[in-house]
Amino acid sequence: MYYEAAEGLARESLERLQTERLKRTIATCLRSQFYSSRLGALGLSPDDFNSPDDIRKLPFTTKDDLRGNYPYGLLCQPMDQYVRLHASSGTTGTPTAIFYTQNDIDSWAGLVARCMYAVGLRKGDVFQNMSGYGLFTGGLGIHYGAERLGLLTVPAGAGNSKRQLKLLRDFHVDGVHIIPSYALHFASFLKQEGIDPTSLNWRFALIGAEPHTEEARQRIQELLGLKAYNSYGLTEMNGPGVAFECEKQAGMHVWEDAYIVEIINPDTGEHVAEGEVGELVMTTLCRTGMPILRYRTRDLTRFIPGACECSRTHRRLDRITGRADDMLIIKGCNIYPMQVEQALMSMPEVAQNYVIELFKEGEMDQLRVKVEIKEDYFVEDMRALTSLQKKITARLRDEILVTPRVELVQHDSIPKSEGKAVRVVDLREKP
Ligand code: ADP
Ligand code: ZN
Repeated sequence: MYYEAAEGLARESLERLQTERLKRTIATCLRSQFYSSRLGALGLSPDDFNSPDDIRKLPFTTKDDLRGNYPYGLLCQPMDQYVRLHASSGTTGTPTAIFYTQNDIDSWAGLVARCMYAVGLRKGDVFQNMSGYGLFTGGLGIHYGAERLGLLTVPAGAGNSKRQLKLLRDFHVDGVHIIPSYALHFASFLKQEGIDPTSLNWRFALIGAEPHTEEARQRIQELLGLKAYNSYGLTEMNGPGVAFECEKQAGMHVWEDAYIVEIINPDTGEHVAEGEVGELVMTTLCRTGMPILRYRTRDLTRFIPGACECSRTHRRLDRITGRADDMLIIKGCNIYPMQVEQALMSMPEVAQNYVIELFKEGEMDQLRVKVEIKEDYFVEDMRALTSLQKKITARLRDEILVTPRVELVQHDSIPKSEGKAVRVVDLREKP
């Protein structure tokens, strides 16, 4: 059973729908300053698009295009048609703003509701949104989707674990939306308070908004006593609700009636072979206020080949391994922060938080990993600590092929941010 029949559309019907919507989207785009000059220069019109694959006739849109035409350059409707804006959290530089018409808000809420239904949430369930509200789409985006599905929605916002716990208990919350790094932190908080997580009513956590490994998901599930589902989205494509795991937890269905999805080789711009990892590129098909064509997300993933057991026909994306621009080059080796997380989270001695620091020693770039250690292992015996430090160093070296400095710190001693976790700190520019 699906929330909407479109989730099970046969591929041919899905592609026909995509084509129809792509034509309409191109026509809308021609009303914006940015696309009318870009598509106009190429002489492209809706008639040139007769299959989803014709999308390759279009140039890519990049984050710099959005910044360069900030704030209104991509708007396609008269100003009085817009009812909301959001801005990306600016993880990697100047933020970009996305403007929504009422139609856009409505169709976005429908996509989010679909995702929530797919994990098993149902009308009448109580749902607590533990992510920040405001310009960040994880607040209102999830909120409107939850209301659309008919969930009793608790807009808790981020942080303040004591209050979160009170709300979870008082209202017998069934499901939450929470950023994975905060979920891990919340697990430590529950332990500290002596709370058995299985005494809570919750069964579902939607986790997303930042990269995290399968190891981190496993920990979240174990420590919080619930099932955690990966949820992917980005402001440029509305926000959450772009791709989501169903109850099978076997990759994230990306809603292909609302987006055309491509995976390209970031260097050549060509499509990679089916199943290969590359950069995710997305086109909106249902947006009227600010459609975006072939947006280079910089997120790395792949299509999971084959059909899902749930029988939804929309393809699945694999866990995002990071952004193309997350990659660190240390001593000639390419390192992604998620490799570090994967190694750390698989070690029982390691607690829930870590940070990677880059610094210079002479002319050489060096990597330091500060690792929180669980209380039971943070002992006074120097020999035990040194041997643990060596063990972690070796495990990391096997994974990233560089020997990092490893610093063991007490659990809960690395500062937490309210929103997305800061996993990499670059100290190299400092005098
Ligand atoms: P910013 O780009 O400033 O962080 P957004 O809030 O729009 O602003 O964040 C979207 C980005 O967050 C995505 O492009 C992706 O890098 C990351 N992200 C979101 N959800 C996930 C997820 N489930 N797994 C990995 N990364 C994610
Ligand atoms: Zn499925």
